[in-house]
Amino acid sequence: MKGKMHVAQVEHFGQPLVLKEIDIPTPGPGQILVKTEACGVCHTDLHAANGDWPLKPTLPFTPGHEGVGIVVALGSGVTAVKEGDRVGVPWLYSACGHCEYCLAAREPVCTQAKFGGYTVNGGFAEYIVADPNYVAHIPAGLAATEAAPLICAGITSYKGIKETQARPGQWVVVSGIGGLGHLAVQYAKAMGLHVCAVDIDDTKLAHATRLGADAVVNVKHGDPVAAVVKVTGGGAHGVLITAPSLPAFKQGVAMTRKWGTCVLVGIPPGEFPIPLFDVVANCITVRGSFVGSRGDMAEALAFAADGKVKANIELQPLSAINTVLERLSRGEVLSRVVIDFSSH
Ligand code: NAD
Ligand code: ZN
Ligand code: ZN
Repeated sequence: MKGKMHVAQVEHFGQPLVLKEIDIPTPGPGQILVKTEACGVCHTDLHAANGDWPLKPTLPFTPGHEGVGIVVALGSGVTAVKEGDRVGVPWLYSACGHCEYCLAAREPVCTQAKFGGYTVNGGFAEYIVADPNYVAHIPAGLAATEAAPLICAGITSYKGIKETQARPGQWVVVSGIGGLGHLAVQYAKAMGLHVCAVDIDDTKLAHATRLGADAVVNVKHGDPVAAVVKVTGGGAHGVLITAPSLPAFKQGVAMTRKWGTCVLVGIPPGEFPIPLFDVVANCITVRGSFVGSRGDMAEALAFAADGKVKANIELQPLSAINTVLERLSRGEVLSRVVIDFSSH
Protein backbone atom coordinates (compact mmCIF):
# COMPACT_ATOMS: atom_id res chain seq x y z
CA MET A 1 0.00 0.00 0.00
CA LYS A 2 1.52 3.31 -1.09
CA GLY A 3 1.10 6.63 0.70
CA LYS A 4 1.46 8.28 4.08
CA MET A 5 -0.24 7.69 7.42
CA HIS A 6 -0.72 9.69 10.60
CA VAL A 7 1.03 8.34 13.71
CA ALA A 8 1.76 9.50 17.26
CA GLN A 9 5.27 8.54 18.35
CA VAL A 10 7.39 8.71 21.47
CA GLU A 11 10.62 10.42 20.45
CA HIS A 12 11.90 11.18 23.98
CA PHE A 13 10.81 9.63 27.29
CA GLY A 14 8.75 11.95 29.44
CA GLN A 15 7.92 14.28 26.53
CA PRO A 16 4.61 14.67 24.66
CA LEU A 17 4.08 12.27 21.76
CA VAL A 18 4.91 13.70 18.34
CA LEU A 19 2.16 13.64 15.72
CA LYS A 20 3.59 13.12 12.26
CA GLU A 21 3.09 11.53 8.85
CA ILE A 22 5.25 8.59 7.81
CA ASP A 23 5.15 6.02 5.00
CA ILE A 24 2.54 3.27 5.31
CA PRO A 25 4.58 0.15 6.15
CA THR A 26 4.68 -2.88 3.86
CA PRO A 27 3.97 -6.27 5.45
CA GLY A 28 6.90 -8.67 5.02
CA PRO A 29 6.65 -12.43 4.48
CA GLY A 30 4.33 -13.92 7.09
CA GLN A 31 3.01 -10.50 8.16
CA ILE A 32 -0.24 -8.61 7.58
CA LEU A 33 -1.22 -4.96 7.28
CA VAL A 34 -4.16 -3.79 9.40
CA LYS A 35 -6.03 -0.52 8.72
CA THR A 36 -6.73 0.79 12.21
CA GLU A 37 -10.35 1.57 13.11
CA ALA A 38 -9.86 2.09 16.84
CA CYS A 39 -7.16 1.83 19.51
CA GLY A 40 -7.65 1.99 23.28
CA VAL A 41 -5.28 4.03 25.42
CA CYS A 42 -3.89 1.88 28.26
CA HIS A 43 -2.06 3.15 31.33
CA THR A 44 0.84 1.02 30.03
CA ASP A 45 1.15 3.49 27.12
CA LEU A 46 1.86 6.13 29.76
CA HIS A 47 4.53 3.94 31.42
CA ALA A 48 5.98 3.33 27.93
CA ALA A 49 6.07 7.04 27.06
CA ASN A 50 7.69 7.84 30.41
CA GLY A 51 10.27 5.03 30.13
CA ASP A 52 9.10 3.79 33.55
CA TRP A 53 10.20 0.14 33.35
CA PRO A 54 13.59 -1.67 33.38
CA LEU A 55 12.90 -3.04 29.86
CA LYS A 56 12.94 0.12 27.71
CA PRO A 57 11.57 0.42 24.17
CA THR A 58 13.93 1.70 21.48
CA LEU A 59 13.16 5.32 20.50
CA PRO A 60 11.31 6.43 18.49
CA PHE A 61 8.32 4.07 18.68
CA THR A 62 4.56 4.12 18.18
CA PRO A 63 2.65 3.06 21.33
CA GLY A 64 -0.81 1.46 21.40
CA HIS A 65 -1.61 -2.22 22.01
CA GLU A 66 -5.41 -2.15 21.81
CA GLY A 67 -5.57 -1.55 18.06
CA VAL A 68 -8.51 -3.06 16.16
CA GLY A 69 -8.92 -2.85 12.42
CA ILE A 70 -9.41 -4.56 9.10
CA VAL A 71 -6.80 -6.69 7.36
CA VAL A 72 -6.03 -4.86 4.10
CA ALA A 73 -2.89 -6.64 2.83
CA LEU A 74 -1.17 -9.99 3.29
CA GLY A 75 2.55 -10.69 3.12
CA SER A 76 3.63 -13.83 1.27
CA GLY A 77 2.65 -17.15 2.81
CA VAL A 78 -0.11 -15.85 5.10
CA THR A 79 -3.08 -18.21 5.45
CA ALA A 80 -4.23 -17.67 9.06
CA VAL A 81 -6.28 -14.55 8.22
CA LYS A 82 -7.74 -13.09 5.03
CA GLU A 83 -8.30 -9.59 3.71
CA GLY A 84 -11.41 -8.05 5.26
CA ASP A 85 -11.07 -9.85 8.63
CA ARG A 86 -11.44 -7.66 11.74
CA VAL A 87 -8.53 -8.29 14.09
CA GLY A 88 -6.94 -6.83 17.21
CA VAL A 89 -3.18 -6.26 17.48
CA PRO A 90 -2.33 -6.99 21.13
CA TRP A 91 0.52 -6.48 23.61
CA LEU A 92 1.58 -10.08 22.89
CA TYR A 93 2.52 -9.19 19.33
CA SER A 94 4.31 -12.48 18.68
CA ALA A 95 6.21 -15.30 20.40
CA CYS A 96 8.42 -18.20 19.32
CA GLY A 97 5.67 -20.85 19.43
CA HIS A 98 8.10 -23.62 20.42
CA CYS A 99 9.56 -22.99 23.91
CA GLU A 100 8.31 -24.59 27.13
CA TYR A 101 6.15 -21.51 27.85
CA CYS A 102 4.62 -21.33 24.39
CA LEU A 103 3.84 -25.06 24.51
CA ALA A 104 2.07 -24.55 27.86
CA ALA A 105 -0.06 -21.60 26.58
CA ARG A 106 2.06 -19.26 28.69
CA GLU A 107 3.32 -17.39 25.66
CA PRO A 108 3.36 -13.91 27.30
CA VAL A 109 6.54 -14.99 29.16
CA CYS A 110 8.25 -16.45 26.04
CA THR A 111 11.79 -15.06 25.96
CA GLN A 112 11.31 -14.28 22.25
CA ALA A 113 8.00 -12.44 22.81
CA LYS A 114 7.58 -9.09 21.09
CA PHE A 115 5.32 -6.47 22.62
CA GLY A 116 2.97 -4.36 20.47
CA GLY A 117 3.31 -0.63 20.92
CA TYR A 118 6.49 -1.25 22.90
CA THR A 119 9.21 -3.37 21.27
CA VAL A 120 7.39 -3.10 17.91
CA ASN A 121 5.25 -0.23 16.61
CA GLY A 122 1.62 -0.25 17.71
CA GLY A 123 -1.83 1.18 17.17
CA PHE A 124 -1.48 4.94 17.56
CA ALA A 125 -1.21 4.84 13.76
CA GLU A 126 -3.57 4.56 10.81
CA TYR A 127 -1.97 1.26 9.78
CA ILE A 128 -0.30 -1.51 11.84
CA VAL A 129 1.90 -4.38 10.67
CA ALA A 130 0.94 -7.50 12.65
CA ASP A 131 1.69 -11.21 13.05
CA PRO A 132 -1.37 -13.15 11.83
CA ASN A 133 -0.66 -15.97 14.29
CA TYR A 134 -1.06 -13.68 17.31
CA VAL A 135 -3.82 -11.23 16.36
CA ALA A 136 -7.14 -11.37 18.20
CA HIS A 137 -10.15 -12.40 16.13
CA ILE A 138 -12.97 -9.95 16.82
CA PRO A 139 -16.35 -11.70 17.06
CA ALA A 140 -19.05 -10.51 14.63
CA GLY A 141 -21.40 -8.08 16.32
CA LEU A 142 -18.69 -6.28 18.33
CA ALA A 143 -17.89 -2.79 17.04
CA ALA A 144 -14.18 -1.98 16.67
CA THR A 145 -14.41 0.80 19.27
CA GLU A 146 -15.99 -1.45 21.91
CA ALA A 147 -13.68 -4.38 21.13
CA ALA A 148 -10.49 -2.29 21.44
CA PRO A 149 -10.30 -2.12 25.28
CA LEU A 150 -10.77 -5.89 25.49
CA ILE A 151 -7.53 -6.49 23.59
CA CYS A 152 -5.50 -5.51 26.66
CA ALA A 153 -7.67 -4.33 29.57
CA GLY A 154 -10.20 -7.11 28.93
CA ILE A 155 -7.84 -10.07 28.57
CA THR A 156 -5.61 -8.89 31.44
CA SER A 157 -8.44 -8.39 33.92
CA TYR A 158 -10.19 -11.62 32.89
CA LYS A 159 -6.98 -13.65 33.17
CA GLY A 160 -6.14 -11.93 36.47
CA ILE A 161 -9.49 -12.91 37.97
CA LYS A 162 -8.95 -16.50 36.77
CA GLU A 163 -5.50 -16.51 38.37
CA THR A 164 -7.01 -15.70 41.79
CA GLN A 165 -8.65 -19.14 41.56
CA ALA A 166 -11.64 -17.74 43.45
CA ARG A 167 -14.73 -19.90 42.95
CA PRO A 168 -18.35 -18.82 42.41
CA GLY A 169 -19.83 -17.43 45.60
CA GLN A 170 -16.45 -16.33 46.96
CA TRP A 171 -15.17 -12.76 47.28
CA VAL A 172 -12.74 -10.91 45.06
CA VAL A 173 -11.35 -7.45 45.59
CA VAL A 174 -10.64 -5.40 42.50
CA SER A 175 -8.24 -2.61 43.48
CA GLY A 176 -8.19 0.17 40.87
CA ILE A 177 -11.43 0.70 38.91
CA GLY A 178 -10.07 2.30 35.74
CA GLY A 179 -9.60 0.72 32.30
CA LEU A 180 -8.72 -2.73 33.63
CA GLY A 181 -10.73 -2.58 36.84
CA HIS A 182 -14.11 -1.61 35.37
CA LEU A 183 -13.87 -4.70 33.16
CA ALA A 184 -12.56 -6.90 36.01
CA VAL A 185 -15.71 -6.07 38.02
CA GLN A 186 -17.88 -7.25 35.11
CA TYR A 187 -15.86 -10.42 34.43
CA ALA A 188 -15.92 -11.33 38.12
CA LYS A 189 -19.68 -10.85 38.35
CA ALA A 190 -20.19 -12.91 35.18
CA MET A 191 -18.06 -15.64 36.81
CA GLY A 192 -20.36 -15.76 39.83
CA LEU A 193 -18.08 -13.98 42.30
CA HIS A 194 -18.88 -11.39 44.95
CA VAL A 195 -16.98 -8.20 44.16
CA CYS A 196 -15.60 -5.54 46.45
CA ALA A 197 -14.30 -2.58 44.41
CA VAL A 198 -11.48 -0.48 45.85
CA ASP A 199 -10.31 2.90 44.52
CA ILE A 200 -9.30 6.38 45.67
CA ASP A 201 -12.06 8.07 43.66
CA ASP A 202 -15.78 8.02 44.56
CA THR A 203 -16.76 8.56 40.90
CA LYS A 204 -14.98 5.33 39.90
CA LEU A 205 -16.57 3.51 42.84
CA ALA A 206 -20.07 4.74 41.95
CA HIS A 207 -19.43 3.39 38.47
CA ALA A 208 -18.32 0.03 39.95
CA THR A 209 -21.64 -0.15 41.83
CA ARG A 210 -23.53 0.49 38.57
CA LEU A 211 -21.51 -2.34 37.00
CA GLY A 212 -22.60 -4.76 39.73
CA ALA A 213 -20.01 -4.48 42.53
CA ASP A 214 -21.49 -5.77 45.80
CA ALA A 215 -19.42 -3.46 47.98
CA VAL A 216 -17.08 -0.50 47.52
CA VAL A 217 -14.22 0.83 49.63
CA ASN A 218 -12.59 4.23 49.18
CA VAL A 219 -8.95 3.93 50.29
CA LYS A 220 -8.96 7.58 51.34
CA HIS A 221 -11.73 7.13 53.91
CA GLY A 222 -10.61 5.27 57.05
CA ASP A 223 -8.73 1.94 57.11
CA PRO A 224 -9.34 0.21 53.74
CA VAL A 225 -7.96 -3.16 54.89
CA ALA A 226 -10.27 -3.27 57.93
CA ALA A 227 -13.19 -2.27 55.69
CA VAL A 228 -12.50 -5.13 53.23
CA VAL A 229 -11.99 -7.67 56.03
CA LYS A 230 -15.35 -6.64 57.50
CA VAL A 231 -17.29 -6.72 54.21
CA THR A 232 -15.84 -10.08 53.14
CA GLY A 233 -15.91 -11.76 56.54
CA GLY A 234 -12.16 -12.26 56.89
CA GLY A 235 -10.57 -11.02 53.67
CA ALA A 236 -11.14 -11.70 50.00
CA HIS A 237 -10.44 -15.15 48.53
CA GLY A 238 -8.93 -13.38 45.55
CA VAL A 239 -7.46 -9.89 45.16
CA LEU A 240 -6.65 -8.30 41.80
CA ILE A 241 -4.50 -5.18 41.97
CA THR A 242 -4.73 -3.03 38.85
CA ALA A 243 -3.92 0.26 40.60
CA PRO A 244 -0.80 1.94 39.18
CA SER A 245 0.14 2.99 42.71
CA LEU A 246 2.56 1.27 45.14
CA PRO A 247 0.51 1.68 48.37
CA ALA A 248 -2.28 -0.39 46.77
CA PHE A 249 0.02 -3.44 46.68
CA LYS A 250 0.80 -3.71 50.39
CA GLN A 251 -2.89 -3.05 51.11
CA GLY A 252 -3.97 -5.70 48.59
CA VAL A 253 -1.83 -8.39 50.21
CA ALA A 254 -3.33 -7.46 53.60
CA MET A 255 -6.87 -7.69 52.13
CA THR A 256 -6.26 -11.32 51.06
CA ARG A 257 -8.00 -14.05 53.07
CA LYS A 258 -5.99 -16.92 54.60
CA TRP A 259 -5.09 -19.36 51.78
CA GLY A 260 -6.21 -16.73 49.27
CA THR A 261 -4.35 -15.39 46.22
CA CYS A 262 -3.33 -11.82 45.53
CA VAL A 263 -2.74 -11.22 41.81
CA LEU A 264 -0.57 -8.28 40.75
CA VAL A 265 -1.21 -6.72 37.35
CA GLY A 266 -0.61 -2.99 37.91
CA ILE A 267 3.01 -2.06 37.15
CA PRO A 268 3.92 1.25 38.78
CA PRO A 269 7.72 1.55 38.78
CA GLY A 270 9.32 0.43 42.04
CA GLU A 271 9.00 -2.19 44.75
CA PHE A 272 6.71 -2.85 47.69
CA PRO A 273 7.30 -4.53 51.06
CA ILE A 274 5.73 -7.92 51.81
CA PRO A 275 5.15 -8.66 55.53
CA LEU A 276 6.72 -12.13 55.59
CA PHE A 277 5.19 -13.45 58.80
CA ASP A 278 1.65 -12.61 57.68
CA VAL A 279 2.09 -14.03 54.18
CA VAL A 280 3.75 -17.24 55.42
CA ALA A 281 1.57 -17.89 58.47
CA ASN A 282 -1.62 -17.20 56.47
CA CYS A 283 -0.48 -19.29 53.48
CA ILE A 284 -1.11 -16.45 51.04
CA THR A 285 -0.11 -16.67 47.38
CA VAL A 286 1.18 -13.49 45.73
CA ARG A 287 1.54 -13.85 41.98
CA GLY A 288 2.13 -11.71 38.92
CA SER A 289 -0.05 -11.98 35.82
CA PHE A 290 0.91 -10.62 32.41
CA VAL A 291 -1.87 -10.18 29.81
CA GLY A 292 -2.91 -13.72 28.80
CA SER A 293 -2.63 -16.43 26.16
CA ARG A 294 -4.43 -16.45 22.82
CA GLY A 295 -6.93 -18.82 24.40
CA ASP A 296 -7.58 -16.32 27.20
CA MET A 297 -8.09 -13.64 24.52
CA ALA A 298 -10.78 -15.68 22.76
CA GLU A 299 -12.54 -16.34 26.09
CA ALA A 300 -12.36 -12.69 27.14
CA LEU A 301 -13.87 -11.60 23.80
CA ALA A 302 -16.60 -14.25 24.03
CA PHE A 303 -17.92 -12.71 27.28
CA ALA A 304 -18.37 -9.43 25.39
CA ALA A 305 -19.92 -11.12 22.35
CA ASP A 306 -22.40 -12.76 24.76
CA GLY A 307 -23.27 -9.32 26.19
CA LYS A 308 -21.94 -10.13 29.68
CA VAL A 309 -19.12 -7.58 29.59
CA LYS A 310 -19.14 -4.17 27.92
CA ALA A 311 -16.30 -1.66 27.87
CA ASN A 312 -17.28 1.87 28.87
CA ILE A 313 -15.59 4.01 26.24
CA GLU A 314 -14.95 7.67 25.48
CA LEU A 315 -14.00 8.35 21.85
CA GLN A 316 -11.25 10.81 20.92
CA PRO A 317 -9.27 11.57 17.73
CA LEU A 318 -5.56 10.68 17.45
CA SER A 319 -4.76 14.41 17.52
CA ALA A 320 -5.96 14.50 21.17
CA ILE A 321 -3.52 11.80 22.35
CA ASN A 322 -1.37 14.06 24.56
CA THR A 323 -4.38 15.50 26.38
CA VAL A 324 -5.68 11.95 26.87
CA LEU A 325 -2.36 10.76 28.33
CA GLU A 326 -2.24 13.76 30.69
CA ARG A 327 -5.77 13.07 31.90
CA LEU A 328 -4.90 9.38 32.38
CA SER A 329 -1.88 10.30 34.51
CA ARG A 330 -4.12 12.46 36.72
CA GLY A 331 -6.79 9.75 37.08
CA GLU A 332 -9.28 11.84 35.10
CA VAL A 333 -10.37 9.14 32.62
CA LEU A 334 -13.44 7.31 33.95
CA SER A 335 -12.83 3.98 32.18
CA ARG A 336 -11.17 3.84 28.74
CA VAL A 337 -10.45 6.37 26.04
CA VAL A 338 -10.50 4.84 22.57
CA ILE A 339 -8.88 6.62 19.65
CA ASP A 340 -11.47 6.61 16.86
CA PHE A 341 -9.75 6.58 13.48
CA SER A 342 -13.01 7.00 11.58
CA SER A 343 -13.08 10.61 12.81
CA HIS A 344 -9.95 11.38 10.78
P1 NAD B 1 -6.20 3.44 34.71
O1 NAD B 1 -5.44 4.69 34.91
O2 NAD B 1 -7.30 3.40 33.69
O3 NAD B 1 -6.86 2.96 36.10
C1 NAD B 1 -6.17 2.99 37.32
C2 NAD B 1 -7.18 3.09 38.45
O4 NAD B 1 -6.48 2.92 39.70
C3 NAD B 1 -7.89 4.44 38.52
O5 NAD B 1 -9.29 4.23 38.65
C4 NAD B 1 -7.31 5.08 39.77
O6 NAD B 1 -8.24 5.95 40.43
C5 NAD B 1 -7.01 3.85 40.63
N1 NAD B 1 -6.03 4.06 41.71
C6 NAD B 1 -4.96 4.90 41.73
N2 NAD B 1 -4.32 4.79 42.93
C7 NAD B 1 -4.99 3.86 43.64
C8 NAD B 1 -4.82 3.30 44.94
N3 NAD B 1 -3.81 3.69 45.73
N4 NAD B 1 -5.69 2.36 45.36
C9 NAD B 1 -6.72 1.96 44.57
N5 NAD B 1 -6.92 2.46 43.33
C10 NAD B 1 -6.09 3.39 42.88
O7 NAD B 1 -5.10 2.31 34.37
P2 NAD B 1 -5.27 0.89 33.59
O8 NAD B 1 -5.19 1.13 32.12
O9 NAD B 1 -6.41 0.16 34.16
O10 NAD B 1 -3.87 0.19 33.98
C11 NAD B 1 -3.58 -0.06 35.34
C12 NAD B 1 -2.20 -0.65 35.53
O11 NAD B 1 -2.15 -1.96 34.99
C13 NAD B 1 -1.04 0.10 34.88
O12 NAD B 1 0.08 0.10 35.76
C14 NAD B 1 -0.75 -0.70 33.64
O13 NAD B 1 0.57 -0.57 33.16
C15 NAD B 1 -0.99 -2.08 34.17
N6 NAD B 1 -1.28 -3.10 33.15
C16 NAD B 1 -0.73 -4.32 33.33
C17 NAD B 1 -1.01 -5.36 32.45
C18 NAD B 1 -0.47 -6.71 32.69
O14 NAD B 1 -0.47 -7.52 31.77
N7 NAD B 1 -0.03 -7.04 33.88
C19 NAD B 1 -1.83 -5.09 31.34
C20 NAD B 1 -2.39 -3.83 31.20
C21 NAD B 1 -2.11 -2.83 32.11
ZN1 ZN C 1 -2.42 -2.43 28.19
ZN1 ZN D 1 8.20 -19.21 23.16
